[in-house]
Amino acid sequence: MKLVCFDDYRLGVQNGEGVVDITHLVTDVPEAWKPLRMIRLIEEFDALKGQIEQAAQSGPALPLDSVRLLAPLPRPGKVMAAPSNYMRHVREMVAEDSPLAKIGLFLKASSAVTGPSQPIVLPYADRRTDHESELVMVIGKRASKVSAEEALDYVFGYTCGLDITVRGDEDRSQRKSFDSFSPLGPCIVTADEIPDPQTLEINLWVNDDHRQHAFTKDMREDCRNIIERMSAVMTMEPGDVIFTGTPEGVGPLAPGDTVRINIEKVGEMAVAVVPSYA
Ligand code: MN
Repeated sequence: MKLVCFDDYRLGVQNGEGVVDITHLVTDVPEAWKPLRMIRLIEEFDALKGQIEQAAQSGPALPLDSVRLLAPLPRPGKVMAAPSNYMRHVREMVAEDSPLAKIGLFLKASSAVTGPSQPIVLPYADRRTDHESELVMVIGKRASKVSAEEALDYVFGYTCGLDITVRGDEDRSQRKSFDSFSPLGPCIVTADEIPDPQTLEINLWVNDDHRQHAFTKDMREDCRNIIERMSAVMTMEPGDVIFTGTPEGVGPLAPGDTVRINIEKVGEMAVAVVPSYA
């Protein structure tokens, strides 16, 4: 099942023809909190699943090009991220004995999340700002101190993420939390469609330049172990997301670029790059 958020924070399920509006299935979210509707759908998914499947079959569907896709989770509660999770990326950035080469955990501001129809806004004319293409896990159930063996039971689904990053010496959370620095999309693919997240191919292009090509099997720490390690630190809630790290091939963005990420079985999203400066 492919779930989207579109237009004025409406919820949709994709079928072969387009997007079927299922906003009416989530009835208890106040209008002022509509960016949180998808979190509510995730919490209630077991009860709503049958109705969502039925809606996908019976339609009517809006053509995909007639809706404005937002991030499928416009305001996740937490945005966790795994740095340095592909060795060839570590080697392109730092010495292997650098503290920055260690696997770890950082948080990105949830206000940095945007979607396929919104541009990446470059904050500085004079500093390098890079793309990082990443598989993103969406948490489905409260998860605290879960084991690697059970970890995937807590994953609701997957989406594509761009971990946009200003290079420099500041803390990661500062360099990666500018508004628009966490595009997510185009949809959440539910976990039943991806039984093994370590089998996926990731590609990224900037304009026609093929910059990143990798496989999730090459993660230093796989999705299961990321959840075990991070859930030992902080309780994860439905709708929290985890960026699983970038493979090699990161590079700078410039005003006017279009960044396109494709993850096998998850989907493809292309976003524009604009400057904040004149
Ligand atoms: Mn990253």
